[in-house]
Amino acid sequence: MKLGIDLDDVIAVCAVPYLRKFAQEFGVELPDEREIGWHLLASLNERVSPADRDRFRIKLYDGTFFADLDIYPECPAVLERMVEAGHDLFFVTARAERRRMTTETWLREKGILRHAKAVHLKPMGDFNPDWPRGRYDPSSSAEYKARLAKELRLDAFCEDDVVIAKTLASAGVRVFLFDQPWNRELAHERISRVAGWSAVAEHLGV
Ligand SMILES: [Mg+2]
Repeated sequence: MKLGIDLDDVIAVCAVPYLRKFAQEFGVELPDEREIGWHLLASLNERVSPADRDRFRIKLYDGTFFADLDIYPECPAVLERMVEAGHDLFFVTARAERRRMTTETWLREKGILRHAKAVHLKPMGDFNPDWPRGRYDPSSSAEYKARLAKELRLDAFCEDDVVIAKTLASAGVRVFLFDQPWNRELAHERISRVAGWSAVAEHLGV
């Protein structure tokens, strides 16, 4: 099987450290770790202006944030077993192409770069020019990932984002949706919700 694999919040533990830093910067209180997620940002619209958020995000992403992320502990062993079982893995992230060096160095340090046939980052041309620089844009990321899924003839995709997962499923791709507090509402016949990497391994019989 050919599988696309998202990085942030699928391989990398991303939302929790992001929200922690955000809360620290703007003096916001966070709930229990299990409920921390991107959905909380929407509820802080009145507390922090879009311009301040953008400045914060760009500064964070231009620093060591991506290089410092942890990965989910079961991930490396499961990826290894998937490859041994004959599956082809493609890392597909909506991180910008200019973050390739940081991203590949980090994947190599974590010992998992070798499991991927290729690493795909979002090219400049796939960004919506009307969208503020660096701000998360799920619809253009969904189009980009759906296009790649078609080009690479992917059978399945590991993803956490609602818009992206829905777009891929509608395009005929099977999705392993990594359970996160921001995607709990999503259900689709081609989407299997998974608690983590061990569950993916079970689905694939590896
Ligand atoms: Mg993600």
